[in-house]
Amino acid sequence: MIKFVILDVYPAKKHRLIKDTAGGYGTGNDFGNTLFSKLLNVYVEGNIGMPSIEVMIISSILKKNHEVHYTRNLNDENISTCDYVILPSSIIAHETELHTLSKLENKKVFITGIFATIMKEKYLKKNSLVVKNESDTFFYNLNKNDKINKEFLDNLFLNKDSIDDFYTPVSLDDFPYPDWGDYSKKYPLRNNFFSLNQKIAIPLLGTRGCPYSCFFYCTYPLQQGRKVRARSVENIINEIKYWQKELGTNKFVFRDPVFSINRKHTIEFCNEVIKQKLNITFMVETHLNNLDDEMIKLLKAAGLRLVYVGVESSNHVVLKDMKRFTVEHDKQYKVIKKCEDAGIKVKTMFIIGNPEDTKETIIQSIEYSKYLPSLYSQFSVFTPYPGTPVYNDYKDLISDKKLENFNQYNLVFKHKNLSKKNINDLKSLAYFKFYFNFKKVIEVLKYFIKSKYEKADQRLG
Ligand code: SF4
Repeated sequence: MIKFVILDVYPAKKHRLIKDTAGGYGTGNDFGNTLFSKLLNVYVEGNIGMPSIEVMIISSILKKNHEVHYTRNLNDENISTCDYVILPSSIIAHETELHTLSKLENKKVFITGIFATIMKEKYLKKNSLVVKNESDTFFYNLNKNDKINKEFLDNLFLNKDSIDDFYTPVSLDDFPYPDWGDYSKKYPLRNNFFSLNQKIAIPLLGTRGCPYSCFFYCTYPLQQGRKVRARSVENIINEIKYWQKELGTNKFVFRDPVFSINRKHTIEFCNEVIKQKLNITFMVETHLNNLDDEMIKLLKAAGLRLVYVGVESSNHVVLKDMKRFTVEHDKQYKVIKKCEDAGIKVKTMFIIGNPEDTKETIIQSIEYSKYLPSLYSQFSVFTPYPGTPVYNDYKDLISDKKLENFNQYNLVFKHKNLSKKNINDLKSLAYFKFYFNFKKVIEVLKYFIKSKYEKADQRLG
């Protein structure tokens, strides 16, 4: 039996850091410097968190025949006695990961995650092996071919190019369920934005891939490709039932880049949840264009309680420059209102500091966020990520050399109209203006109190 340690390291920050978001590059939710923003940082940091699904799938694959420990601590005693370390990469912990790697000179280290694929030259050392693209596929193929033994793995570290033989595409149904059981005994696995109850919120993957036109600045297509691949409905339903039984939770978070992109698949999934009376609550991220009357009704009946939708900006010039495919303002308002009226809470997602943004366009977007009838809103900062097509236009304008600061909440390049301070002030203003008004505070409180006493939660309590 081989002993693996998954060493998932993060820099010390006073806000949430999560590696699964932004297509595996990760995000760091730093809402700003005002008192209100700092309170929001503390709330989100303590109540919403999860590691990368990919690495939890790897953990399950390896655990079939071997010993696996997950830790966030470089001094964990299991490291000195393990055979191999697995280090998940990201942009938001990049320098910390490199420092950690330098402390593991006596260990053989697999580096996983799309960011290491993109920045291979930074992560590839004498003692490391960069597992490219979807690293769960690589470990799945190794296991399937009976190659997880010391002799074979040690040889991979000597002949690093030979790992290319283990990337045969895999059906998503072939993967075991991610290793949330052991993880949730040690770390919080919650998402309290869609219900205040402290139940574990299981991250689920229904599909991978996104074909939309915003790929030129987005990292999801880098990680998962532009072709949509779906798990079978049966496989997803079985996973839901498994976690209901194992962990006694009915709370699920779909991590698909665009849930309901495949309408037929979504309808089939909802109908099955309803038919089998699964009594779940779940949240998704999707495009407003995918939500019509029929879909809203069906999703609500299946248990959808919170939906994240990208609005990005209220300004058409800004959106056109971003090649963002969007729906008209009237339609945005109507769809969000229908969701909220049906009991599905909406979180609108805006990006500030887009290439064509000015102070005025950002203030317009903040006002527009207040006009839209959503319960929540999020304001992140346009980030030209290494590896995306847009990066070539910005690589000479990058003003922040520390990649850990590319957390989607900082301005990292010289913007033609806005300074770093402008962006920080506008970000804090956006959160303050959106949330800090009497009506919104009452709405949020009412929703939280109601969600705490949801019948379905009590049934599974
Ligand atoms: S819709 Fe656009 S922003 Fe969202 S995952 Fe797809 S490419 Fe990325």
